[in-house]
Amino acid sequence: MRYDEFYRQSIEQPERFWGEQARLIHWDTPPQQILDQSNPPFRRWFVGGTTNLCYNAVDRHLAERGEQLALVAISSETNTTQEVSYHELYREVNRFAAVLQSLGVGQGDRVVIYMPNMAEAVYAMLACARIGAIHSVVFGGFAAHNLALRIDDAEPKLLICADAGMRGGKVIAYKPLVDAALAESSCPPPHVLIVDRQLDPQLTRVPGRDLDYARLRAQHMDAEVPVTWLESNEPSYLLYTSGTTGKPKGIQRDVGGYAVAMALSIRAIFDIAPGQVMFSTSDVGWAVGHSYNVYGPLIGGATALLYEGLPTHPDPGIWWQLCEKYRVRTMFSSPTAIRVLKKQDASWLKKYDLSQLKWLFLAGEPLDEPTAHWITDGLGVPVIDNYWQTETGWPAITLMPGLELKPVKWGSPGLPAPGYRMKVINEVTGAEAATGEKGVLVFVPPLPPGCLSTVWRDDARYVHSYFSHFSELLYSSLDWAIRDADGYTNILGRTDDVINVAGHRLGTREIEESVASHPAVAEAAVVGVHDELKGQVPVVFATLKQGITESNASVARGMQQCVVDQLGGVARPARVYVVNALPKTRSGKLLRRSLQALVQQTDPGDLSTLDDPAALEDIRRALSRGPEQGA
Ligand code: ATP
Ligand code: MG
Repeated sequence: MRYDEFYRQSIEQPERFWGEQARLIHWDTPPQQILDQSNPPFRRWFVGGTTNLCYNAVDRHLAERGEQLALVAISSETNTTQEVSYHELYREVNRFAAVLQSLGVGQGDRVVIYMPNMAEAVYAMLACARIGAIHSVVFGGFAAHNLALRIDDAEPKLLICADAGMRGGKVIAYKPLVDAALAESSCPPPHVLIVDRQLDPQLTRVPGRDLDYARLRAQHMDAEVPVTWLESNEPSYLLYTSGTTGKPKGIQRDVGGYAVAMALSIRAIFDIAPGQVMFSTSDVGWAVGHSYNVYGPLIGGATALLYEGLPTHPDPGIWWQLCEKYRVRTMFSSPTAIRVLKKQDASWLKKYDLSQLKWLFLAGEPLDEPTAHWITDGLGVPVIDNYWQTETGWPAITLMPGLELKPVKWGSPGLPAPGYRMKVINEVTGAEAATGEKGVLVFVPPLPPGCLSTVWRDDARYVHSYFSHFSELLYSSLDWAIRDADGYTNILGRTDDVINVAGHRLGTREIEESVASHPAVAEAAVVGVHDELKGQVPVVFATLKQGITESNASVARGMQQCVVDQLGGVARPARVYVVNALPKTRSGKLLRRSLQALVQQTDPGDLSTLDDPAALEDIRRALSRGPEQGA
């Protein structure tokens, strides 16, 4: 079926459409009711059906593809590669599940997982799913305080951690962070299960509390743990949003709806059939990592490539080398990662045989045109921008090359995915915005399967955060969008990233895009800074590509000119700073609010989601040095 018809059916006859999609997965008991929307904005999909994520991701494939690779875990940090067949995955997940049960973990119990992209993280997630425990993966390497906040919110029965992670050859000990988090937490779990890769020679254990996974695993080598069948709307996992705009929200996912969304999207969006290979470079701690490093490809009977390490280590060709070696068909990454590669020589993109690679999907933040062009030209494969949120769990706006490749339009992630009743509305009147007119991106309930069921233990926050912005009951994405005559949607940034210059409302994102069109610029961040005369003025922070010989001042003048030429004089950046790095969250998103606070010398607020504190120091130095180019 072509996209238009597929989408139309999902909107006009949702119960029929999703009832059909539900057949993509295995149900122990089939659903009795496809959709219950008696209590909006809550909704329940596949009511009465019982299923299990682990069964669909593992057991279901054993008969047909037991010997096929399910997971390839590659670490360019520890220099290891594990090739795991579906049969071996089944064995490891059963061992892990037996260990969990031996520690008293059962249905409905929360388990916090604090590990890098390693095979055992996947085993742990699937083992939780198998026994109906609710996992909450916390990005490994998040600071202790961050971990403590999530522990206190989830109240886990168990914490599973790695002894350490590695980044660019440097060992980052996790266990001291766990110890500190548990000391800070008001409800520390009774046990910590350590998967010890022996990266940290100083690893210490608290007697009685801390247990070694390897030792317990050895006691359960032949374990067969029965699957716990769960009603479709039981919680499967919790995942916190990035915290770019404020305190992270504990997104709660269901079982059946999520499984169906994964089965549908891996095929129709990501164009992956059973036996094909998907490489998602995200971290298991993020939404993309959950859905397309783990559940999506496995539910789809594909091979999932899991990568621990930097895109530039041991060299900037590492990802493409892996694509060649494992005949990757679909790759999924983020604009940030591509911008990191863009600082390197483009010849790295041409070194390997990428004839099997069909698609590169990018998500997580706006994909600027220069970056999109650079990578498309370099790889010679279509780049598919796709828009989603931790809340949605899978793309909400995308092209669907698994069904039909509609034309790629630069700057737009494309069209709504099945089940998303998308609208762009005026933020004041709530009326639908005209074609070409900017508004807030909203979804009319019911949200499709796969999207959040609620905020963990906080239904009120679910309603208040997402559904209380307009007089009508609408899910607000809190992002600006604009639609063209073909229905393609552009995302113009977050609703709180707007600056007001002498009465003109400007999106920081649009100015950033314009600055980034300067050939010397690798990446740019724009914030609005208070100004006596104009209210606010745009201030630019930019990193440059490697090997630029032009002076910083001259590049800065060039950036201002780009903005004037493309957006007009009113958007002209008042000051331009050239810096080495921009402050980002651990998920690679720009932390504009901390940049703005630094410039205005106000409180930078919660910096716990910040990736690299050195970036802030760099900004501080640049500020005290003065701009490359002032007004
Ligand atoms: P928080 O909600 O806690 O502030 P966050 O919004 O950064 O954190 P995520 O759920 O990881 O947490 O990010 C989703 C957001 O990322 C979207 O709302 C949007 O602003 C941005 N985004 C994701 N994909 C795209 C894309 N393809 N184009 C533009 N923006 C995108
Ligand atoms: Mg958000």
